[in-house]
Amino acid sequence: MDFSLNKEQQDIIKAARKFAKGEFPDRALEFDRAETFDLNIWKKACELGFVGVFIDEKYGGAGYGFFEHCLINEEFWAVEPGMAMQVLSATFGSELLLLYANEQQKQELLPRLTLGEAIMGTAITEPDAGCDVTGAVTTAIRDGSAWVINGTKMFATNGNVADFLRYFAERIRIAIPPTGDTASSSCQRTHRGTPPPKYTERWASGRPIPPKSPCGTFACHWTTWSASKARAFIN
Ligand SMILES: Cc1cc2nc3c(=O)[nH]c(=O)nc-3n(C[C@H](O)[C@H](O)[C@H](O)COP(=O)(O)OP(=O)(O)OC[C@H]3O[C@@H](n4cnc5c(N)ncnc54)[C@H](O)[C@@H]3O)c2cc1C
Repeated sequence: MDFSLNKEQQDIIKAARKFAKGEFPDRALEFDRAETFDLNIWKKACELGFVGVFIDEKYGGAGYGFFEHCLINEEFWAVEPGMAMQVLSATFGSELLLLYANEQQKQELLPRLTLGEAIMGTAITEPDAGCDVTGAVTTAIRDGSAWVINGTKMFATNGNVADFLRYFAERIRIAIPPTGDTASSSCQRTHRGTPPPKYTERWASGRPIPPKSPCGTFACHWTTWSASKARAFIN
């Protein structure tokens, strides 16, 4: 089997190395010390086509594979890992969107990632669910045209800057109950064994997202992360 890189892949490596050597070294120390980052560098990487190369051309990507994405990662990381991560993690989770999102979601979300218009992240880890992903207890409950997501996520890369986040949540299907009491009992029946959050307050008041869950171990992710720009979507 021939493992040698083709001409296009060699050109990708050269271009990625040139970009990283030109943009990263002068700024890295400043960003490390101030714990900050200049998003213009990410935007420039997007303009030059380094971000999300594995995304299909019809959604604004280059239509390459993950191998080419890895080649770019390798060159960026060799120069400056922190900045490489900042630039290339902006699409984290889009791999799953490509596989499982519906057409409307793909068209709406994916081009924004490669154009440098949006940053995304993926929130799976919870205080009691790390390697054991099946231990996650965040729930997604349908409420008419909206979803109510309750849970606490942690370690979500880009969680504080993301324009949208992909969540891992237990999807619970229930009809919208007319009163709070009915909602609580419906949740209880469908939740798998653990004490369910009580949504009575939310149903009764009709607020779109509860500021905090009345249930002790749950917290609304909006307040937990202060990710005011973030919004959730479910497929
Ligand atoms: C910089 C950084 C960025 C991250 N970004 C994200 C993100 O964007 N989104 C996200 O959802 N999460 C993110 N995470 C979380 C990361 O995926 C979790 O840390 C990881 O899933 C492990 O979970 P944990 O830390 O709770 O460790 P635990 O699951 O508590 O594991 C602790 C230790 O026990 C070991 N262990 C666990 N289970 C077993 C077993 N059954 N048998 C043997 N050994 C075991 C593990 O190998 C590990 O050494 C990030 C973490 C870091 C550090």
